[in-house]
Amino acid sequence: MVDHSDDAPASSPLRIVAIDGPAGSGKSTVGRALADRLGLEYLDTGAMYRGVTFAVLRAGLDPADAPAVATLAREVELSLEGGILTVDGVDATADIRGPEVTRAVSAVAANPAVRELMVQRQRDWARSRGGGVLEGRDIGTVVFPDAALKVYLTASPEVRARRRTAEVPDLDFQTVAADIARRDALDQGREASPLTQAGDALLVDTSDLSVDEIVTDLASRLDRGRHRPAHPMAADLARGGDAGRHGNPWAATPGEMWLYRVVRGALVGFARVWFRVRASGLENVPATGAYIVAPVHRSNLDFMLVLILTRRRLRFLAKDTLWKGFWGRLFTALGGIPVARGSADREALRTCIEVLEAGEPVVMFPEGTRQHGPVVQPLFDGPAYVQSRTGVDIVPVGIGGSETAMPKGSKVIKPRPIRLVVGRPLPAVPTQGSKARRAAVRARTAELHEVVQDLFDRAQEQAGTPNRPA
Ligand code: C5P
Repeated sequence: MVDHSDDAPASSPLRIVAIDGPAGSGKSTVGRALADRLGLEYLDTGAMYRGVTFAVLRAGLDPADAPAVATLAREVELSLEGGILTVDGVDATADIRGPEVTRAVSAVAANPAVRELMVQRQRDWARSRGGGVLEGRDIGTVVFPDAALKVYLTASPEVRARRRTAEVPDLDFQTVAADIARRDALDQGREASPLTQAGDALLVDTSDLSVDEIVTDLASRLDRGRHRPAHPMAADLARGGDAGRHGNPWAATPGEMWLYRVVRGALVGFARVWFRVRASGLENVPATGAYIVAPVHRSNLDFMLVLILTRRRLRFLAKDTLWKGFWGRLFTALGGIPVARGSADREALRTCIEVLEAGEPVVMFPEGTRQHGPVVQPLFDGPAYVQSRTGVDIVPVGIGGSETAMPKGSKVIKPRPIRLVVGRPLPAVPTQGSKARRAAVRARTAELHEVVQDLFDRAQEQAGTPNRPA
């Protein structure tokens, strides 16, 4: 039987990856693949709550009868081996995914006594294996708050319902969508360990990422110990619930993402044909989380050229006076954020920090405005300052050939070759105190200047418009 003597959460020596999120957010697929990649075992804790629910229904109990359900949960024998769940010796693997269990499971999981028992079993499971990948609703907040890596997966409700519909062929989309919405509400609203993002969990929207991209990114974060907490604000926001943004005010709504994809597809397609644009070093662009893209800036084309770096929406700031008619709509569709002309730069930097803290990547041209010629102009401190405040990586980018294709003042876009070269991300340097931070910001800006010049030289060379004569 379950041992209640040790209720303290386990800590560091265990290699624990905690994956939480709502139904259909991709936890099981990502969890299994990540466990495989890391050579760890994987535990689907939802299957445990489903197993108890199966036993409750089999015994003819009312899932809302808390004392009766708690008594049963203490006695039920659950075993989860190789994806097969047996409940008191009966194979329940298929039944726990059926509509009866799915309808009743949230009520059973809201029972504090059931949760206490399950949490204990989950900790025992991980301790006896020296770690593991655990997936559920409360892994990073309750079961293993000291996990080596905490991830909170989300996806738009449409994407989640579509995934679940594909998994359970008997059910139609509407039924599945309604069930997911109902379970979201119950899981988030319950008293005991509600579904919520841990303040230090990495928020990953899986709507537009492949499993491989996510797994590779998470595995490398764990390896390099570079799992970076999202701002505590992200957790508050996640509770807020605002139409389509799954709790993140800066995230794109499904409608915005649709428009973004269409516009991005058209612009990238045009750039590939017209400039035969190519990018190297794309593996340096993080697949998930927030980061600052810092490109050299020689042409208005640069805004569209950086779109080639990632399918995720990159945010950028621009003067609000540019928001006129068609251009305004295009900028908004492309993730532009208007900043009031004449408003302090600090305002703009604060906006960048907010966007990054909410998990979105941001483009910051470190030369400030568009420049001219082969020499990277003195950089402003903005990117390094924002990095010091958020802890995100700076991804330096050289863009070659864009000035030849469309220099300042030109209205013509010439079909000249363009090349992008992405450098290795510059990770944040932890500092203590404001003096040390100012020094670190200056040092980072100087380093970025050198790196961007080097990438610019390489990109110009590849584009056939070398900065220095050979
Ligand atoms: O992940 P899955 O959808 O199979 O989980 C089924 C239900 O189990 C969830 O809706 C939730 O009510 C409950 N659950 C939980 N805590 C976990 C895992 C699942 O409350 N750690």
